[in-house]
Amino acid sequence: MHELSIAQEILSITKASLPSPDAKVISIKVKIGHLSGVLVDSLKFSFEAITAQTEFENVNLEVIEVPIKIRCNECFKESILPEPIFLCPECNSFNVQLLEGRELEILEIEIEDHKEEI
Ligand SMILES: [Zn+2]
Repeated sequence: MHELSIAQEILSITKASLPSPDAKVISIKVKIGHLSGVLVDSLKFSFEAITAQTEFENVNLEVIEVPIKIRCNECFKESILPEPIFLCPECNSFNVQLLEGRELEILEIEIEDHKEEI
């Protein structure tokens, strides 16, 4: 996965979502699953690099990491997996279903309140 292109994608989606061109973005919250293959540190570094000396320079990129979560089709227990090995830790069945961990999405873009002069 190329973190730089993901950072550029996040930035372009953010720009496209602004209510007005002079809106000031404070933070962007993104959700990244462990299975998405995205390295969080690398993504943050890339985002800082592409926003340096732009109006997005001080925007805080907040990353919520989502662990790999499965449900076993044999014992029906849900488990969090530390590694992407699709084996039920409860009954050792390989008959498992992925519930979470593939996410790669923007959850929230926080924009500074526009203060009107009266
Ligand atoms: Zn099981």
